[in-house]
Amino acid sequence: MLWVEVSHLKCSYRLGLLLICDAAHIMFLTGHVPINDALQGAVVAANVLSPTLKLGIPVRERDLTKVQRQRELPIRFIQWMQARAQNAVFAQILNEPRNRVFTVPQVALPLLRASRLLALPARLLSFGLCPPHVQARRVYQ
Ligand SMILES: Cc1cc2nc3c(=O)[nH]c(=O)nc-3n(C[C@H](O)[C@H](O)[C@H](O)COP(=O)(O)OP(=O)(O)OC[C@H]3O[C@@H](n4cnc5c(N)ncnc54)[C@H](O)[C@@H]3O)c2cc1C
Repeated sequence: MLWVEVSHLKCSYRLGLLLICDAAHIMFLTGHVPINDALQGAVVAANVLSPTLKLGIPVRERDLTKVQRQRELPIRFIQWMQARAQNAVFAQILNEPRNRVFTVPQVALPLLRASRLLALPARLLSFGLCPPHVQARRVYQ
């Protein structure tokens, strides 16, 4: 059996150690793309740490704090959404008597009819809040 949980470390670093991606936070697969979070964590770590590492300077605690701070809000937001979806939708489906048909909540119906509107939550759930981009100058030069 695959054990599924949603959680995150309050502090994901010590001097000399930085935990990112699944090591720092785990989430449900439902309604989200965790592998994107993993990649985004790696991107943020590269953006923040590579200038220091390229100079051969030891990474400071404040750099590690910066990595955690940049990932904290997007991760907690997705986890909050997942917890709400879990309670509002999935828990109900699982608790429904077998012969009852699950109906889509009324509030979701306009969303399902408008493909442009539907793209918004899909994008949010796929890429999260403020997806980071590799800052090529910091990372490669
Ligand atoms: C069954 C399953 C299905 C999933 N399906 C999806 C999906 O469809 N879509 C999606 O977006 N996400 C999916 N996920 C989640 C996704 O795979 C993870 O969120 C993502 O891979 C996390 O990346 P990561 O780099 O943190 O960890 P990982 O991808 O787990 O990478 C960690 C790496 O570290 C290596 N490692 C561990 N210990 C050591 C050690 N001591 N020394 C050296 N190397 C070590 C491991 O071998 C591994 O290669 C799924 C996860 C599971 C378990």
